[in-house]
Amino acid sequence: MQWINHELYIAPIDAYIDPIKPVDKAIITHGHADHARPGHQKVLASRQTIDIMKIRYGEKSATSFQSMEFGKPLRINDVTITLHPAGHILGSAQISIEYRGQRVVVTGDYKTIPDSSAQAFEIIKCDLFVTEATFGLPIFQHPSPHNEINNLLKSISEQPKRTHLIGVYSLGKAQRVISLLREAGYDHPIFIHGALEKLCDYYSSEGINLGLLRKALVQDKETMKGAVVMAPPSALRDRWSRRLMDPIICQASGWMTIKQRAKRSGVELPLIISDHADWNELTSTIDSTEADTIWVTHGREDALVHWCKLNGKNAEPLRLQGRDEELEI
Ligand SMILES: [Zn+2]
Ligand SMILES: [Zn+2]
Repeated sequence: MQWINHELYIAPIDAYIDPIKPVDKAIITHGHADHARPGHQKVLASRQTIDIMKIRYGEKSATSFQSMEFGKPLRINDVTITLHPAGHILGSAQISIEYRGQRVVVTGDYKTIPDSSAQAFEIIKCDLFVTEATFGLPIFQHPSPHNEINNLLKSISEQPKRTHLIGVYSLGKAQRVISLLREAGYDHPIFIHGALEKLCDYYSSEGINLGLLRKALVQDKETMKGAVVMAPPSALRDRWSRRLMDPIICQASGWMTIKQRAKRSGVELPLIISDHADWNELTSTIDSTEADTIWVTHGREDALVHWCKLNGKNAEPLRLQGRDEELEI
């Protein structure tokens, strides 16, 4: 396909998808920092992604913003752009671009399992499918998130005097874990680190049920005994968390599959809750798109490229720079 290149630059409309450096025209899949950057001239994205960019980077973080509704095509020159839900975080979109009878779909990050804090993933048939591969190895088979939440609830009931301090990325993971807890019937107030406040408020204002949230203040450490406290992973190891009394350190992440990694970061109760597709989701999604060409980016490209080739598809790794889930804070 001549009109889109490995930097996800779409020549006929002179626009980039999720560019790392400031550009004139950017189409943004979702609000995580490795996809949405400040400093572009024109930004095209879902309304919620634009709201999130403004919350994180400021109202003037781009010269102009244009929001698009999911499923409503926008025609620019001879190019038709449509956003479809990616199921990753609130407002996250796959970008479909049609030009001269061919369709390209760029997923950004995605997952296909249900998540009540994000719009449900949709399969879009296409000719070229650009997929992430954060968990692109067969060893990554995420358990059901409900199972992980049950483990957490069990630990809370077994150790009712200790604080459960959960490390969560501030955008997406925090709100998903809270809404999973609410769905499981946990109705106590949940304490949140100040870094999570604005985005939790935003999710609530968008109708996601987060229940009663309270700011985690050090002077309330007695009250937080037996409670759930959420904080960004970086706060788990700093002075802030040491002020809590004898907390049980938990972390919610797809990476918790790797036991040594959990141990190394001092995580006592790992919760394998991922906002990215696991190996089976990646391969079945690739099949369902019926695309004959697959570009793989964002993580462990090689195994997925190999799988595609074995299954009769053209596949290439895209070595986009600056893409790493670790950056998503
Ligand atoms: Zn992301
Ligand atoms: Zn990402």
